[in-house]
Amino acid sequence: MLVEKNVPLRAYNAFGIVARAQTLVRVASEADVAALLADPVLAAAPKFVLGGGSNIVLTGDVRPVVLKVEVMGRRLVQETDRAWIVEAGAGENWHDFVAWTLANGHPGLENLALIPGTVGASPVQNIGAYGVELQDRFESLDAIDLATGKTFTLDAAQCAFGYRDSVFKHAAAELSDFGLAGRALITRVRMRLPKPWKPVLGYLDLERKRHETGIAEPTAQQIYHWVCDIRRHKLPDPRVLGNAGSFFKNPTVTPEQCADIIARDPRVVHYLLPNGTVKLAAGWLIDACGWKGKTVGNAGVYDKQALVLVNRGGDTDPVTGGEVMTLARAIQTSVYERFGIRLEPEPVVV
Ligand SMILES: Cc1cc2nc3c(=O)[nH]c(=O)nc-3n(C[C@H](O)[C@H](O)[C@H](O)COP(=O)(O)OP(=O)(O)OC[C@H]3O[C@@H](n4cnc5c(N)ncnc54)[C@H](O)[C@@H]3O)c2cc1C
Repeated sequence: MLVEKNVPLRAYNAFGIVARAQTLVRVASEADVAALLADPVLAAAPKFVLGGGSNIVLTGDVRPVVLKVEVMGRRLVQETDRAWIVEAGAGENWHDFVAWTLANGHPGLENLALIPGTVGASPVQNIGAYGVELQDRFESLDAIDLATGKTFTLDAAQCAFGYRDSVFKHAAAELSDFGLAGRALITRVRMRLPKPWKPVLGYLDLERKRHETGIAEPTAQQIYHWVCDIRRHKLPDPRVLGNAGSFFKNPTVTPEQCADIIARDPRVVHYLLPNGTVKLAAGWLIDACGWKGKTVGNAGVYDKQALVLVNRGGDTDPVTGGEVMTLARAIQTSVYERFGIRLEPEPVVV
């Protein structure tokens, strides 16, 4: 186990915010966590688990011990008549894992291509895109309880997946006795990729690709390329323009609340969900309040998609976490004043 001090985190967060970890420990195996917990000072210290840093806002130097997860490895665990079960170490890059499954003839994750970050973080917020969520393909995961050092395995039900939500985002008292926020370090994730493969194409952008290309029945590889192409056009590449993807969750409201908002602005983008509630497009609400393209300090609202906040300071004068949060709060206030909706940030504020 290598303990590093005063480590710059700029390269480890997708916003490109300048901050330092007072102490950083790289976790490449369960043995590294055991060694960490055997050290009385490190064991007692608060800890923050870091993957690829694509869903965090750093508001200053990080005092808790940063555990940078670097557990590697990918393998086919099992093949049955009904599915392939594949596994990846938590430190593997998510997109590389998706590409690897397809290259090995195991389709099913193509709609989730090009989501930044690590495999280990994917269950934390139940990543989703283009009509598929992680929970749709999830089999199980291995994790270590940082309080006790014990390893454990969770299935989908135990992960309590929801929209950008899971047991890993809740403290014990909030969700159940089993809330695991700040407590679990995920080491390996297994996915169940069902046979026969069926494409998921309902999403508008994918339907558009179908019409443009004239391919009515695309392969998984074709969908993968379509998703990569759509995402490259819609979202800024964090290596070029720092950002954390969608900054706010799409809010869910009752049909009555939705009717009230339609009365204020009939153009509001909304989708009826199977459970009778209505999902509103947060990006549309922000755009309707005039935020698209605006800049406050070095934090900005992306010109092509109002849901994405970006680092306008670049390399020379990078945005601070304080500037990002000031802009986020100003957006929340104006959306609340105009529509009565409280937007909830998606990234973790550290
Ligand atoms: C351009 C862009 C586009 C994006 N598009 C999407 C999208 O389409 N859909 C979507 O769902 N998300 C999207 N995101 C958000 C982000 O990619 C995901 O949330 C991703 O899973 C974060 O992975 P990470 O490794 O970077 O996690 P980090 O940012 O490092 O961490 C995020 C959270 O997970 C916890 N965590 C990380 N690793 C572990 C672990 N091994 N064990 C326990 N806890 C852990 C951290 O403590 C933190 O709370 C996008 C982000 C960007 C920058």
